[in-house]
Amino acid sequence: MKELHSGHLFWPLTMEEYKNYPALSEDLQVQVAIIGGGMSGAMCAYVFEKSGISTAVLERDTIAGGSTSANTGLLQFSNDIMLCDLINQIGRQPAVQFYAACANAVKQIGLIAGELAINPHFVPRRSLYYASSEQDLPKLHKEYDALRQNGFDVSFWEADEIAKHFPFRRPGAIITNGDAEVNPFRFVHGVADAAAAHGARIYEHTDVIDHERKADGKHQLTTATGHVISAEKVIYAIGYEPEELRGQLIKPVLNRSFAAVTAVQDKDKLLRWHEQMFIWETARPYLYMRTTLDGRIIIGGLDEEFEHPVEGERERGKRINRLYDKLTAHFPMLDVPFEYEWSATFGESFDNLPFVGEDPAQPGVYYCLGYGGNGTVYSMIASYVLHDLIKEGYHPLADIVGLKRPTLQT
Ligand SMILES: Cc1cc2nc3c(=O)[nH]c(=O)nc-3n(C[C@H](O)[C@H](O)[C@H](O)COP(=O)(O)OP(=O)(O)OC[C@H]3O[C@@H](n4cnc5c(N)ncnc54)[C@H](O)[C@@H]3O)c2cc1C
Repeated sequence: MKELHSGHLFWPLTMEEYKNYPALSEDLQVQVAIIGGGMSGAMCAYVFEKSGISTAVLERDTIAGGSTSANTGLLQFSNDIMLCDLINQIGRQPAVQFYAACANAVKQIGLIAGELAINPHFVPRRSLYYASSEQDLPKLHKEYDALRQNGFDVSFWEADEIAKHFPFRRPGAIITNGDAEVNPFRFVHGVADAAAAHGARIYEHTDVIDHERKADGKHQLTTATGHVISAEKVIYAIGYEPEELRGQLIKPVLNRSFAAVTAVQDKDKLLRWHEQMFIWETARPYLYMRTTLDGRIIIGGLDEEFEHPVEGERERGKRINRLYDKLTAHFPMLDVPFEYEWSATFGESFDNLPFVGEDPAQPGVYYCLGYGGNGTVYSMIASYVLHDLIKEGYHPLADIVGLKRPTLQT
């Protein structure tokens, strides 16, 4: 088991108590076995159970304890790859279709949030996507045109407009409507509880260490304690641990990222943060900021090309100080310290699209790997894509996010 994060996480402390699930202590038969109990696994179990497909979620540690708890909870339809670049990469129709699916997934997450017994602090937000430099401005205009011409709900702010609404000035920004924030830890616990209420069998401390396909086409998973799960289909929702796929075809880019959360701010100090919009930028890696319902600020970024989270307060502290400087450069009136900070592994794909679909070499084995800054949005999309692939054999996005797509073959 690898460490996916180091430091002091914020989200788990926002729930006074949450359900613990048992470890698997018997053999099991199920239609779909889901390996991994993070955002992706919980969402798949919820969607599948609601349509009558029996599932078991097998989590080696605890529900929402992986990278889900290091997530900063921004739900946006704009991706790490701009729409204009995605159009160049895969063509206009599929690129627009994918962006539209992301916008729809934010809405779907909102609908699910409304059904949960645990309040996941889902709040619709707009985003300010600013040009980090004058050089980035023409590209940002190009992106704005691509979004607007293809029906996305966006507007453009010139430098003066930005300075009117925020205590900083940037050359220009796209405002996107239809984004939302969520508390990922509460959300995943809420979704897992709801899935269990619909019949999902959820197991924590259940490490899957072997996977064999039997002559009858069924899959046999074995846990570290020797229990056997027999399943018609298996979904790998294992997050940033692709080595768990035992050397198969996923080629991820694993980096590490940093995030920090301030103490609760004085209300007056947040007045110059217009509508508590999300803030992010065109530079890569990008800096991003959001607020929380209780008036804190979350800031993240400074990605580094190393897979493992930074260990040690001192080394992490250096990066966190840089985040602090960046935050106060945007909002000089903020003077409260950070109360939580962490470093975490962060996975992306070479073509900026998630890995979702059936393994071409292994019938009945599916991947639900929402790599990228929109991981939660991708997990939502993935659960519907995999549901339809397993139930109907088809989903319109399957070729775009699937494992046979041309951009993965290089
Ligand atoms: C710093 C940071 C900020 C982020 N911010 C955002 C954001 O603002 N918005 C957004 O949409 N996304 C964001 N993401 C991405 C998001 O966190 C991920 O997309 C999401 O957490 C992935 O969920 P998951 O379920 O795929 O993975 P995980 O939450 O890691 O869950 C996978 C689980 O699989 C389990 N597992 C692995 N192997 C086995 C095995 N053999 N047997 C049993 N269990 C196993 C692990 O224990 C783990 O719990 C961020 C990520 C990071 C690191």
